[in-house]
Amino acid sequence: MLDSLKGFGVTFHEMFRKVDTVQYPEGKRPPAPRFHGRHQLNRWPDGLEKCIGCELCAWACPADAIYVEGADNTEDGRYSPGERYGHVYQINYLRCILCGLCVEACPTRALTMTGEYELADDNRETLIWTKEQLLAPLEQGMEAPPHPMRLGSDEKDYYDLGSAGVVGRATGDAADDAGHAADDAGHAADHTGRAADDTGHAADDAASSRRDSGASQESGQGKQSGQGKQSGQGKQSGQGKQSGRGKQSGRGSMQREGAT
Ligand code: SF4
Ligand code: SF4
Repeated sequence: MLDSLKGFGVTFHEMFRKVDTVQYPEGKRPPAPRFHGRHQLNRWPDGLEKCIGCELCAWACPADAIYVEGADNTEDGRYSPGERYGHVYQINYLRCILCGLCVEACPTRALTMTGEYELADDNRETLIWTKEQLLAPLEQGMEAPPHPMRLGSDEKDYYDLGSAGVVGRATGDAADDAGHAADDAGHAADHTGRAADDTGHAADDAASSRRDSGASQESGQGKQSGQGKQSGQGKQSGQGKQSGRGKQSGRGSMQREGAT
């Protein structure tokens, strides 16, 4: 009997509790400030695109969801400050896990994430978002590219503006910038640590080269230590990545067909 009353007590307690249901999609709750929603390709305050078509975001993506094709700016057709711009840019939201690694990899802060999470659709093709869909809208004072550089004579002038925080406020991503400033401080600390590591490795290398030269003097195998340096070419993983790029272009054609 007592147990039954206890059970009803729980039921009545829950019946009169304030309901926490959100009537989605009519009602929506704002996401957390650093929520990872869909991406946005940002612009400089004069409307030029920040993306330089470097593909670093595509390389950083663990889900193989980004496809980028860069192209050269010309004086008649300038889309970004500097030499290159992102000619084709696609994100496949069937693959994307919204992890944000691409944002971390972007050297120009061209790529950020918004709070938009409504990415469902009823066909696969429309979930491959194109550059036109991802580009930030033109704000007041911005001019649609292509047009000449308005904020300086070269790309360095633009990046100086960005590092001074001017661009973040102008494009409305000041909050993002604050977050990234914290990240950057973390990265700077990492770099300091790595620099210390490198110094240690340099000392190790010097010691081992002294040992190697001693050994070569003793055994006459000096050429062997030269081959040891050859193994340093293993670090030229860029060559390995180059071959990976072939795969990228294959992926791009798949995406254009909407097959992934
Ligand atoms: S958020 Fe993650 S999965 Fe999505 S495109 Fe960027 S790196 Fe790839
Ligand atoms: S979004 Fe950033 S990382 Fe990706 S291609 Fe453009 S500039 Fe490079």
